[in-house]
Amino acid sequence: MATYQYRCAGCGPFDVTRPIGQARPEEPCEACGHPSRRLFTSPMVIRTPAALARALQAQEASAYEPRVVDEVPASRRAPARSADPRHALLPKP
Ligand SMILES: [Zn+2]
Repeated sequence: MATYQYRCAGCGPFDVTRPIGQARPEEPCEACGHPSRRLFTSPMVIRTPAALARALQAQEASAYEPRVVDEVPASRRAPARSADPRHALLPKP
């Protein structure tokens, strides 16, 4: 479905939802029933949020330019063992 915009001479613009490609050149006004001509507007393109755009660019770049690392990132290393012997008695996840 797509939303098409029409303008009534007396009432102003209004929207009509129809299947894509089935817009009529004229539609009756929702308020007064007067034949109204279709307006041609820009498509409703939603702008990608900046954070998502960066993530998508990084994902695309990693496909042909993978990052090379020399060591395991700190966030993925196993936690350091505790010196306290009581910690060894705790249940393991
Ligand atoms: Zn009208």
